Amino acid sequence: MQGSAFRELPHVVILGGGFAGLYAVRALKNAPLRITLIDRRNHHLFQPLLYQVATAALAAPDIAEPIRKVFRRQRNVTVLLAEATSIDLQNRRVLLADGEVTYDRLVVATGSTHAYFGQDEWSRHAPGLKSIEDAFEIRRRVLSAFEAAEREDDPGEQRVWLTFVVVGAGPTGVELAGALREIAQRTLARDFRNFDPRETRVILIEGADRVLPPFPKELSRKARMLLEKRGVEVRTSRVVTGVDGEGVSIGDERIQARTVLWAAGVRASSLAKSLGVALDEQGRVLVKPDLSVPGHPEVFVVGDLAAVKQDGGWVPGMAPAAIQEGRHAALNIRRSIEGKPCLPFQYRDRGMLATIGRSSAVAAIGPFRFSGFLAWTLWLVVHIVWLIGFRNRLVVLFEWTWAYLTFQRSARVILDRPLGGPETLSPPTDAPSRRAADRPRLAKTEESDSDNG
Ligand SMILES: Cc1cc2nc3c(=O)[nH]c(=O)nc-3n(C[C@H](O)[C@H](O)[C@H](O)COP(=O)(O)OP(=O)(O)OC[C@H]3O[C@@H](n4cnc5c(N)ncnc54)[C@H](O)[C@@H]3O)c2cc1C
Repeated sequence: MQGSAFRELPHVVILGGGFAGLYAVRALKNAPLRITLIDRRNHHLFQPLLYQVATAALAAPDIAEPIRKVFRRQRNVTVLLAEATSIDLQNRRVLLADGEVTYDRLVVATGSTHAYFGQDEWSRHAPGLKSIEDAFEIRRRVLSAFEAAEREDDPGEQRVWLTFVVVGAGPTGVELAGALREIAQRTLARDFRNFDPRETRVILIEGADRVLPPFPKELSRKARMLLEKRGVEVRTSRVVTGVDGEGVSIGDERIQARTVLWAAGVRASSLAKSLGVALDEQGRVLVKPDLSVPGHPEVFVVGDLAAVKQDGGWVPGMAPAAIQEGRHAALNIRRSIEGKPCLPFQYRDRGMLATIGRSSAVAAIGPFRFSGFLAWTLWLVVHIVWLIGFRNRLVVLFEWTWAYLTFQRSARVILDRPLGGPETLSPPTDAPSRRAADRPRLAKTEESDSDNG
């Protein structure tokens, strides 16, 4: 479908090729519309498995699918690699970093990012997990900490390298903490000579009074038990008050740790502000029941960027909600083009899953509660089914089978830090050298000295 007839079709612009944007575009397949999907990245990222890239279990392309490839057969879509900087509701245009596009209908699905409770300087020391770059940075820090410990003679310093703190015990924090203990206990158990990786400490800190706060209480208790069984030190009702290059503070308590990972709090994409409409405290757009922006029935906000109230509560910021909202916005676009009224959105809760590690997960599906191996199997199946791309499903299935049989992680590559990324792990150059790798050189010098003497 190309040419002047195509150019005259109503123009739908969709900002963001995450779960919400991607499924909105898919739901408009075969619609007599001209769709432009804009994302600042060339790939759709399957964020629920991002922690596996960060902990060396999967390679980045296994969970990232080029958006252009996803829609190569959907002829009514044009994909643009561009950054949206603001939205001009009055003139129906989206301003890009390098241009602009006008629209007849707009879907804003630019998601969220991590938030540091207003302490953005903590981000240098405690990277969050949202993008492939973040995952590479976390992987670099985690694997480099073990390398640094191997070269360290001072047991105190070694302990600091081998202490990992994860802030936030939502699903991502729990998954990261579980995976770190697994790396220490299994994957790296025999790889070092100067220390025993199994002595690695992993401390999980949560401000709420339980891990996995959105889950039913009994599953939070179960998850904590499973984490502790694996050796994770869990601290709940503890609020982090400081983060620096040497550890974290929790009020008067200080934890010395060189690797701190952030999995607490999210903030909506800053694009929401440019709409000039009411936002909630996380910066999300307070949308109408049909997901449109108040006063602008031609603009829909979906996914993590939308604050959707339902049955007295908020629809959770999760992938299934984003998918359902994306599809619903597409339905309402079709209806509005056909001159029909828009329908209110109804979220269908499909349940919650979180994995703690090998053979261990918790799941709440409707009235049913599962934990252990059954929940883990369910977790595996759900993630394979929802992963975008047939190849990715096969590769991930293979990697997981291999890891299950061998305890190994296939992506143990330390990449140099991304350009403009946070500080490196190198200790200060003026610090006295206590590194084991320095010993042969020093010994030789002493030998030569005594020879000379
Ligand atoms: C580490 C992690 C683990 C998670 N685990 C789970 C889980 O196990 N289960 C679950 O249900 N949910 C999970 N979630 C939450 C889930 O991933 C989100 O709820 C979901 O991705 C929201 O979809 P979205 O489309 O709104 O936003 P996103 O998926 O974040 O997509 C937003 C898209 O917009 C693009 N974008 C952003 N700003 C701009 C801009 N200015 N211009 C152009 N493009 C832009 C981004 O590049 C991105 O492609 C997890 C999230 C994270 C970060």
